[in-house]
Order: sequence, then structure tokens, then C-alpha cells
Amino acid sequence: LYKATDLPHLTLTNTEKKQKIEALLSPLILTEAQQQQVREVFLEEMRLGLAENPERPSSLLMENTFIPQLLDGTECGEYLALDLGGTNFRVLYVVLKDGKFVEENVDYFEVPRELRLGPGEDLKGSSAGRNFKLGFTFSFPMTQKSLDVGILVSWTKSFNCSGVVGQDAVSMLNKAIHKRDNLNIDVNAILNDTTGTLVMGSYLDHRCALGIIMGTGSNGAYIEKVERIEKWLGKHPEKEMLVDIEWGAFGDNGVLDFIRTQWDNAVDEQSLLVHSYTFEKYYGGKYMGDLFREVLLTLAKEGCLGKGGVGKLATHGSITTTTVSTIEKESMEGEQATARKALEEAELEWEEEDLEVLKYVAGLVSYRGALLVSLLVGVLLQRMERPHCTVAIDGSLYRHHPRIRPLMEHLIAKFAPGHPFDLRQAHDGSGKGAALVAAIADRLHKNGAT
Ligand code: BGC
Ligand code: MG
Repeated sequence: LYKATDLPHLTLTNTEKKQKIEALLSPLILTEAQQQQVREVFLEEMRLGLAENPERPSSLLMENTFIPQLLDGTECGEYLALDLGGTNFRVLYVVLKDGKFVEENVDYFEVPRELRLGPGEDLKGSSAGRNFKLGFTFSFPMTQKSLDVGILVSWTKSFNCSGVVGQDAVSMLNKAIHKRDNLNIDVNAILNDTTGTLVMGSYLDHRCALGIIMGTGSNGAYIEKVERIEKWLGKHPEKEMLVDIEWGAFGDNGVLDFIRTQWDNAVDEQSLLVHSYTFEKYYGGKYMGDLFREVLLTLAKEGCLGKGGVGKLATHGSITTTTVSTIEKESMEGEQATARKALEEAELEWEEEDLEVLKYVAGLVSYRGALLVSLLVGVLLQRMERPHCTVAIDGSLYRHHPRIRPLMEHLIAKFAPGHPFDLRQAHDGSGKGAALVAAIADRLHKNGAT
């Protein structure tokens, strides 16, 4: 049995095999020096991403969200939100009174194979004659020209629809909405899910200054001082701005190659959009199952797992992140049903000891993921220098994986000593946060700001 915050360890009676496996998998364990280097490189990439004329391009977009303020408690009225970017697409209707939700209604739709932007039939009747402001969560990298213009930079995760990169997602959505004549909806804000999570976090706790998604993909948004954003100097009278880091792409320019393993290469090669989203592919929910499988495949080939042969271990997508999360959960509880099932489904000829190997590998890939995110969070806490920072988090990986939260609490405290923080789950931050952003946008507009 191991504690959530332990570095994974392997318990095998055969010491020779144990040592061989540990040696093979050591690239998954970041040394102190590598951890320090990740921190330094992240800071440097942030600097370059915020620079007016960077010496070389940064892998971090450091994108303007055009949200300079959080809720101020005066927000009132009906708002809509549309959330697109994960596994399903949702439409929310909320009523706010004095900055608080007094009514909420959510509809879920499965995202069809081809991108479909439409607010859903049932909105049609109920909305007749009324005007709604809508906040649109579009969880992809985009360049914002204003609060309601977002140009798609590239697709990520499992989306790849042609003809959209370089286009404004808001005008595409508006076109779709206006095809329906009795819909009176005004898309007044487009935002990233991390931005929505941050704003939702600030609704729950006003000390929130960082929003994180650890789901299918991963990313973070934080509050930056405008005086530190060289590329906007003179362009923004505001003191602060929410910045969408787009850390999923961290390392796309090679700066993180020093931690890259053969298994990361294999995962990347089989992914929908190869040679992009380096950091996200190190642990994102879309990829962790395959990473785990690739490591097992190597072990099987090296004679360290099963009794010869690789079964189905070479099949992309045959093991999901849910399996990894469940193996982790069961390890902590002293169970192993899922590890057993995974070996059976992989059609390997296996022995009891192999269960330990699976648990070890699940532990290693999970630990590395939590560590990487914690390193970035540590840097951000130090940079923001707040007396206390609440970190809002959401996403399927975070929600379902039993160790991510305790591990992150443990590691962030280690990486940012003297910077008190809380991890706070902002449930449905990307949906409800979008409605809150629509309300903030409405307020800014009424107050005559941008
Ligand atoms: C996208 C980000 C998003 C993250 C989490 C990434 O693939 O590029 O914009 O915030 O996934 O959904
Ligand atoms: Mg989402």
C-alpha cells in the first residue's frame, strides 16, 4: 500500500527483474536538476511570450483574454453560455442576481463528428422576443482581438475540422445562430475554459487568481499585471488582465526535449495532430492511457512483462486513461481488479507479479503528470506574489484520478514555499464561468469600457 504522495515504487521478489525495470523506466522520473530546468524554461518561455519583440518565438501564446476584472457583485440578469471543447457540448441558461447564481439550467449534447455550432432546438421557443448575452467557451488556442473575437490558432485534442483555423469562432457561431430567425442572441464574449474556470473560482473564492484544466487537454490562465506584459504596453489602460497561457503547447519549440522519452515520441506519432501540444501529451487525459500502454509495450518486448509476446499492447487506444486512474485508485486501496482486467484484455500470458509492474507504471506516469503541472503552478504562485492564492481546477483527469489532487497539494507546497494556496475544484467552470464572463462583459460594456 502506498500513500498518495509517495514516489511510486516497485515491489518484486525477483531483484534482477526489478532493477532492470527500474533502469528502463528511469527516464519517467525527473531528477531535481530536470525539475529546476523545467521551472527555468517555463519562466523564460513566459517572458518571451509576453515580450514585444522576442529574440525567438515562445512556445507559449500568453494570450490576451480581454478580461481585466472579475465579478463585482452587481451582475444581474439572464445569461447563456455555450461550452465546446471536450467530449460534449453544453448550453447553459443562468439567472444572476447581485453577482450570484439564482437559477441554472444545463443541456448536454454530444459533439458530432463534424463540428456543429448551434445552440440547440429547445432554446428556440423559449427565447423568442428576448435578447440574451451569451458567453462562448471555446477550449482551443486562439488569438483574441477583443472580448468577442477569437481567431483559432490550431485545433487540439480530438478536433480537427478543416476551414476553421484562422477564422473567428464568434462570427462562425453568430452565423449559425442567425440562421434561426427567432433567436435573439448576442455572443458578447469568447473565452478559454481555463479562463472560465478562473472566473468560476473567483465566484467561489475571491482570492482565486489561477484557473487550470486537467482534462482531455490541459492549460492554465492567471491574472497578470499589465505593466509586466511588454507586448501590450500602451495598449491597455487596465492594471491587470487574465492571460491564457496555453501551456499545452509548452515545449513545441524543443525547449522541453530534455525530459522527452521514447514513449512520449510514440504517443505523439500516433496522435491526431503530430509534433504539437508537447506538454499536454505528457499527461493529458487524451494521452495518458496510451503513454501507459507504450511503456508496457516496451516492458513486454524487453521480457519484463508477460511470458513473451506483446498481445494487444501495440494497439493504439486499447488502454484508456480511466484504466490508469482506476489502477491508481485500487493500488491505494490494496486492490488490483483493474490491473488484472487490463492484462487480460491485452491478451497477454501473464503472472501475478505483472500486476505489480502495471501498478508501478500507472504510478509513474501519473506522478510525472502531477509533478509537471505542479512545477508550473509553483512558478506562477511565485510570480503573482499574492498573500494567498486560490487555484481553481477542473477537468476529467483531475476529477477522476485519486492521486492528482493530493500529489499537487504536496508538490506545489514544496515548489512554492511561503506562498499559501488552496486547490479548489471549480465544478463546471468552463460552462458556468462562461455565463459569468458574459455578465462581466455586459457590465464592462454598460460602463463604457472595451
Ligand atoms: C487547449 C486549451 C484548453 C485545454 C483544456 C488544450 O488542448 O489548447 O485551449 O484550455 O486543452 O481544455
Ligand atoms: Mg470542458
